[in-house]
Amino acid sequence: MQTIVQKYGGSSVSTTKKIEKVAKSIIEKKKQGYNLVVVVSAMGNTTNELIKLSLEVSKAPDKRELDALIATGEMVSSSLLAIKLKDLGFDAISFNAFQINLKTNGIYGKSSISDIDEDIINSQLKKGKIVIIAGFQGISDDNEITTLGRGGSDTSAVALSVKLNAKCEIYTDVDGIYGVDPRLYKEAKKLDEISYEEMLELASLGAGVMHARAVELGQKYNKEIYVGLSCSNIKGTYITEGLEMEKRAVSGIAVSDDDIAINIENIDYDINLIAKIFTNIAKANINVDMISQTMPFNNKINISFTVPKADTNDILKLLKTFISFDNIKVDENITKFSVVGMGMKDSSGIAARLFEIFKENNIEIKMITTSEIRITCAIDSKYKEVAISNVAKFFDL
Ligand code: ADP
Ligand code: ASP
Ligand code: MG
Repeated sequence: MQTIVQKYGGSSVSTTKKIEKVAKSIIEKKKQGYNLVVVVSAMGNTTNELIKLSLEVSKAPDKRELDALIATGEMVSSSLLAIKLKDLGFDAISFNAFQINLKTNGIYGKSSISDIDEDIINSQLKKGKIVIIAGFQGISDDNEITTLGRGGSDTSAVALSVKLNAKCEIYTDVDGIYGVDPRLYKEAKKLDEISYEEMLELASLGAGVMHARAVELGQKYNKEIYVGLSCSNIKGTYITEGLEMEKRAVSGIAVSDDDIAINIENIDYDINLIAKIFTNIAKANINVDMISQTMPFNNKINISFTVPKADTNDILKLLKTFISFDNIKVDENITKFSVVGMGMKDSSGIAARLFEIFKENNIEIKMITTSEIRITCAIDSKYKEVAISNVAKFFDL
């Protein structure tokens, strides 16, 4: 019997009424003869509320305890869904990460999954049960509760579908993947398919519709991921290998307001110092992006890079241990604006067209980085809307 892993996001289970709707949708699939494993996120805004509570008791909540706290959200929704399914006459069982040995590498707040005991799940499926799993959480080798990073239930679902050799369906509050977040650009167009490579870039650069590591896992194991609207038959989007796909020059735009830019000015042109900066940041598990360095002048350089806003305190504390406070400038008002497309591999001039649009709209660029299939510009956040609408219109996204 074919197994399907379905994942329902927070907005799809935000009330008990919605949990009932989800339960009925699951039952419909079950009646079609599938084994069902369902991953759920916490109800609605629960994770944010829990984080808010922690901030009421501490300015910098202890990372271990914070993970233990926010992991509770998914335990509530998974149990409620199992209770509802049973109430509707279908046998279901909910599991948290402990119960299925869902192991992680142990980093609080941004763990990756290292293993799952699929036998426990399979034995329940054999008994005909619908298996509900609390997303977003895992257990380290030291039995610590660790979470997978915001939006991480997608990754729980993809990892489970790989382990169980199952289909993977991600259900959310939008009916597929669009060229631009439809909340930011009303005229955005839906894509039938998108390649792992493009989706990975978009997700890493701020397209919150998918957790980036979920896409990475999909790509690694060639697991097709369907993204669609919860409890609906509207056709969504497939994230696939995309070999046969028409190569669009630009497939999508991603924007992120979640980073700050750090500029370290007028420091010695010394590779030991540069290595020290980035080794220390890496040791602190802080994700650096958009690194750029000026040419040496009088043996001095400037280095700039972006890091997640959430790591602001940690990075400043760390840098100040070996760099003078006066040399460190922080820009909190940046938006990372990225255009992504497989077609960029073979078509030239995309950057030129992008800069032309920015010029016409008086948008200044603070930093630029590129990969084979993307261009990212850090711009002042005040230009975000203008940049989105003009670039989306030009590339027909
Ligand atoms: P869930 O709680 O179901 O995981 P998320 O809020 O994480 O839902 O993701 C769904 C949201 O992602 C949508 O409401 C949409 O605003 C946003 N989003 C961002 N980029 C895109 C995109 N390119 N296509 C579709 N939705 C997007
Ligand atoms: N509940 C978690 C969050 O809000 C995980 C998820 O939604 O995927 O980030
Ligand atoms: Mg999500």
